[in-house]
Amino acid sequence: MDGSALEGEAWQGLSREPYLLETGLPGVFAAGDVRSGSIKRVASAVGEGSMAVRLVHQYLADTGV
Ligand SMILES: Cc1cc2nc3c(=O)[nH]c(=O)nc-3n(C[C@H](O)[C@H](O)[C@H](O)COP(=O)(O)OP(=O)(O)OC[C@H]3O[C@@H](n4cnc5c(N)ncnc54)[C@H](O)[C@@H]3O)c2cc1C
Repeated sequence: MDGSALEGEAWQGLSREPYLLETGLPGVFAAGDVRSGSIKRVASAVGEGSMAVRLVHQYLADTGV
């Protein structure tokens, strides 16, 4: 996400930085064409998708959800 998303209400009061691919809504990740600044390629979308799954697992482990 770009820096402006950190100023949104959802991030107020959270002490951590966003994970890679995390959106302006904490715990929600974006991959592929929908991601801001994506390069619109299949291989990128697939790779980012696999990264997002890994990062969701990390988010769940770190937040104890
Ligand atoms: C004509 C064309 C040619 C292309 N040629 C190439 C190429 O040669 N090489 C290359 O690397 N890339 C190419 N691309 C780009 C490539 O297709 C995309 O970058 C890639 O498909 C992105 O994958 P994605 O999973 O992010 O999005 P998508 O493939 O768009 O998948 C998103 C999915 O979400 C579904 N969806 C949307 N809204 C909802 C909803 N509310 N609820 C549930 N499902 C929803 C959609 O129906 C869709 O199935 C081309 C794109 C186009 C349009």
